[in-house]
Amino acid sequence: MKLKIAVRILGHKPPDLDTAVLTKWHSDLWEIHENKIDTFPLNGDCDLDYWGYSDAGLQSKAQAVAAADFTLYILNVPLEANYYFRRIKKNVGCISLFEVADVLRTHSIPIENLVLRMLYNSTMIHLRKGCLPPIGELAALAHHETKGCIFDMAGIKTDIVFSCHRPILCDTCRAAASADQVSKETIEVFAKEIKGIKKRLYYRAADWVKQKPLLALFASAIFALLLGIAGSLIASYAYEKIQTKAPNQALEPTTMAVTPAASHPSRQP
Ligand SMILES: [Zn+2]
Repeated sequence: MKLKIAVRILGHKPPDLDTAVLTKWHSDLWEIHENKIDTFPLNGDCDLDYWGYSDAGLQSKAQAVAAADFTLYILNVPLEANYYFRRIKKNVGCISLFEVADVLRTHSIPIENLVLRMLYNSTMIHLRKGCLPPIGELAALAHHETKGCIFDMAGIKTDIVFSCHRPILCDTCRAAASADQVSKETIEVFAKEIKGIKKRLYYRAADWVKQKPLLALFASAIFALLLGIAGSLIASYAYEKIQTKAPNQALEPTTMAVTPAASHPSRQP
């Protein structure tokens, strides 16, 4: 059975956050509650020194949706201790785009990828623990080393890019999930689905060109050559068509001249 996750925006919605990507995402493990992402105002000022919002300050603003297994809020403001994800109360988590959204934009990674990463991260935690545990336990489930894994701590926020483009579930996290009675089949489905979290095609192609410039140059030369050959073949074919059509058109006036005589039997001898 799929987990039902309520996803909401709290405060300003970044114009480049495409919520349709999230609602249209297919997963066999989770679904967005009511298949919609509503936006709610973030009323009240910050209560921390660095323009941040504390867990306690957000608790009254971020309500849990009772019909969902858990609720995730997306915010633009800094959270307590400048984390990008915090569990602020039972079954309610907050994803902060503060700073990480700019990091993702710099690397041409859609912001939706971060939300998907956290949806899968929270899903696996829920599968393992049956709930979203307090922030201290959540932190213990992540590893400090950056491996491109869904459970990277990404304490240095720029490291988030490695788990927002083709992330993995590393061997350590697979073993931990297995130890928490998550089935082998579920782990395989999870690992397969997170592979779909990636940059858009244009930027993947641009990355390939950056990584293999000589091969890209060779490929573009071959492509230009093939394009030239294709153009020549099309031109030859068109020319032949015109040539074969031209003699038929030349005969048409003679035919027209003969036809009236043939169509009047009275004039025939
Ligand atoms: Zn891992």
